[in-house]
Order: sequence, then structure tokens, then C-alpha cells
Amino acid sequence: MAEYIKRHVARALTIAGSDSGGGAGIQADLKTFQELGAYGMSALTAITAQNTLGVQGVYPLAKEAVKEQIHSVGSDIGVDALKTGMLFSAEIIEEVAEAIAYFGWSKVVVDPVMIAKGGASLLQADAVRSLTKKLLPLTMIVTPNIPEAEYLTGMAIRNKADKLEAAKKLFSFGTRYVLIKGGHEAGDEAVDLLFEGSGYTELSGKRIDTSRTHGTGCTYSAALTAGLAQGLGIVEAVQQAKAYIQAAIEDGIIIGSGHGPTNHWA
Ligand code: PLP
Repeated sequence: MAEYIKRHVARALTIAGSDSGGGAGIQADLKTFQELGAYGMSALTAITAQNTLGVQGVYPLAKEAVKEQIHSVGSDIGVDALKTGMLFSAEIIEEVAEAIAYFGWSKVVVDPVMIAKGGASLLQADAVRSLTKKLLPLTMIVTPNIPEAEYLTGMAIRNKADKLEAAKKLFSFGTRYVLIKGGHEAGDEAVDLLFEGSGYTELSGKRIDTSRTHGTGCTYSAALTAGLAQGLGIVEAVQQAKAYIQAAIEDGIIIGSGHGPTNHWA
């Protein structure tokens, strides 16, 4: 049977929180990795009790548990690209940054998860400084939505010039690329801005009028991570991820009585 085993599979790791409802977090990431043909691994940072109505409980794990999971997969299976999602606290962020530096991983996608759509806090206020000072210098690409970019930079984003200014500020923290997602803007198109240090690329997608957007950010950054693990260049990986999230929002399924998840069977 050995000849049937695929030996060169892209390995993708997500360091994030669990969403018991299966729409966001680790669950969305692993589903996305699988759909895009990457082998998925996970290091849990926190467990949330959650459904389509919102977040009912948040239970962070000990920082030692986060470190050990990352070292277990890193020392044996290996990681071609990784993403971070809900990191919750400064001490978990510091542990994650140390592990990334220890293994020398460079394809690092940081989705700066802060507040769930229902308002629950997924990142403690004092952890933001650790994110910008400790994690962003080790990051390949950070993927904030507009509210997250505003919070991280302390500036209001009202137009394209503001978006570019915010991207430059985030770039100055040490990340190699910045992707500011336009899903929260008004208009017929959701325009994402990929800032590459000297220049930028815009990616536009038709806005879809739906409330089934739970897990959008997680799914987008997981698709990007899968592409990078598979060896795509940054622009191609972002384009593939944008197409994937567009399809996932269009395909969003009707479950539960609140905000249903994005979902896509590739
Ligand atoms: N719960 C977890 C564990 C997450 O990682 C995320 C990701 O951003 C969310 C909830 C947020 O989900 P929503 O897309 O509804 O804001």
C-alpha cells in the first residue's frame, strides 16, 4: 500500500481558539485546510462555548499547554505555513512568538482576532501591545478587518488613503505584508488592500447581502495559509483566498437561529 501514500503534502498549522459551533476558530481553519488540499494541524489557545447566537463562554488554556502543542507538531510533523487566530492574552502571544522564533518559521499569517461579531472579547486589552511588539516582527502577513486595523493603529479609516496610511503603520511594526480587508466598508464591492512595503494591490469582490458571515476572517486567513503552505506567492495566495471566502459567503448555510457560518465545499 505504501506507494499510494502521498509523501509531499503541504502542512498547515492553526494556533487559535475552538468554536464549539464549528463556524469560526480552529474548526473553520481545519475545514478550510482540508478543502484546499493542505494537511491541517492545530494548537488550541482557548475553548469557547459558542453557537450562531453568540459566545456563551471563554476558557483560555495555560500558556504551557499552548507551547507544548506547538512543539509537539513542530518537532515531529513540521510546518510549511501557520496562522494565528484568537490568542486571548499577552502571555499566550509571547509563548507563540517564542515558538515561532525557535522553529524559525517564516510563513506566518496573523489574523488579529479581537472581538467576535456578537461583541465578546477574544483578546484582552493589555495583549494588543504584545501583538504589535512581539508577534508582528515575526509575521509574514497580518490580515485585519477595518475595525481591527483602526484599533491596532489608533486611526480612523474612512477612505482608501486612510487604508493605505494604516497599512504603512502596521508595516512599520515589522510584518512583511499587510492585508486590510474591506468587508466592513459600505458600497457594492468589498475591496481588500494588500500592502507590500513599496507598492500595493487591490482585490475586489462583489458584496453579498447576508447575515451568514460568522467565521469569515478565520476562513479567509486559513485559505491564505493553505496557499502559502502549498508554495504559492503572496499575491496568488491572497487571490486564491479571496476567491475562496467569496464562495464561502455565497454558500453560507442555514443552521441555528442566529448568524450562520460561511461554508464552502470546494
Ligand atoms: N470564535 C473564535 C474562537 C474565533 O477564533 C473567531 C474568529 O475571529 C470568532 C469566534 C469570531 O467569529 P465572527 O466571525 O462571528 O466574528
